[in-house]
Amino acid sequence: MPTLQDYQEIVGPEVIDEMKVVAARVGSRSLQNINSTPVGGGVAEILTRFIPLLRELGIDATWDVIKGNQAFFNVTKAFHNALHGKQEEISEEMLEVFRETTEANLREMNLTGDVILVHDPQPAGLIAKKKEIGRQWIWRCHIDISSPDRRVWNFLRPWVEQYDASIFSMPDFAQELSIPQYLVAPSIDPLSDKNKELEQGYIDSVLEKYHLDPGRPIVTQISRFDRLKDPLGVIAAYRMVRRRHDCQLVLAGGGATDDPEGAEVLREVQQAAADDPDIRVLELPPFSDLEINALVRGSTVIMQKSIKEGFGLTVSEALWKRKPVIGGAVGGIRIQVINGVTGYLVHSPEGAANRLSRLLGDRALRKAMGENGYLHVKQNFLLTRHVKDYMLLMIALDHTQEDIVHLD
Ligand code: UDP
Repeated sequence: MPTLQDYQEIVGPEVIDEMKVVAARVGSRSLQNINSTPVGGGVAEILTRFIPLLRELGIDATWDVIKGNQAFFNVTKAFHNALHGKQEEISEEMLEVFRETTEANLREMNLTGDVILVHDPQPAGLIAKKKEIGRQWIWRCHIDISSPDRRVWNFLRPWVEQYDASIFSMPDFAQELSIPQYLVAPSIDPLSDKNKELEQGYIDSVLEKYHLDPGRPIVTQISRFDRLKDPLGVIAAYRMVRRRHDCQLVLAGGGATDDPEGAEVLREVQQAAADDPDIRVLELPPFSDLEINALVRGSTVIMQKSIKEGFGLTVSEALWKRKPVIGGAVGGIRIQVINGVTGYLVHSPEGAANRLSRLLGDRALRKAMGENGYLHVKQNFLLTRHVKDYMLLMIALDHTQEDIVHLD
């Protein structure tokens, strides 16, 4: 497991020293994280690395996962889509399933943290315990909630407003709430298997394993098989480009245990790709981080053509590897892809095709954008910045009436 010293080599000693000062001020407080899946998706990805680094800084960080059955995760997936603004049928029975699962988790879970950090809507109802046990409670919303379905949001909001504070990924997602709102962008870990430097020999072996030709351009999207990631739009864009540029397309993804739609979307993608031997649809098991890292490093251009996106860790993961990214102009992709600088923002398969054509035809442009992307992530989206922001937030919770908090 990487240590603070290893991060220092990437971000420099000032950043690490600052983190130590802030950590000393947080003291021995414990921070209990709660979400709904141990693997798959961005939240699990972040927590896996976040916890050990906080612990090394002396903060007693832990991570628990709520339990739910298939019916519950069908409901929360519908909530997730609806909060992203998608039209969903939400029945009274579904709300009841949510309440019942919340009750069951309230009975079973040990809520012991001094600060309890609850991620996303699935476990949001645990706040019911606050009256009994006190503690400081933070709701961390990873979703683009800028134009939510009102029925779902009005159902969740009375819970959310019982928290001491909320966190959103960017200003556009902020809500009218009676509790303080903090803005903290997510991050990637530069030293994880997903992002660390790899030997060229290993990258080549992964391309070979998946029958990819390193001699021809490779265009890749890494994403759960989810309609909001628009894998069919990626295939449509590739088909338009394919007429002019010889290239291969990789759609690689796996499932998250809290996402029941994955299998169905995967089937749709497989069908759409069936007639083209240059499209690889890869269903990767959890913990395929090294292979995903190698696939991205072996690619020419990375796509993240989402229709809705909270943040889109895959974008920073690609930019960090100096790959230009063509991303849907939605949610957190807009703060990672600076149009024309680190990649291109697009609104349609046609737009994506146009930009892809341009990038495939211009090696110097890819190189320049790749370098810009790397620096943009280094400056803004690494784990070290993220951990510091959370520690500052823990301190801020003790000083809700003050505008300036002095750290020493
Ligand atoms: N990911 C993965 N395996 C897959 C698909 C995705 O490990 O098959 C990872 C991906 O590299 C990223 C995270 O899961 O770290 C997805 O986070 P993102 O914010 O892009 O999207 P989310 O799935 O949370 O909507």
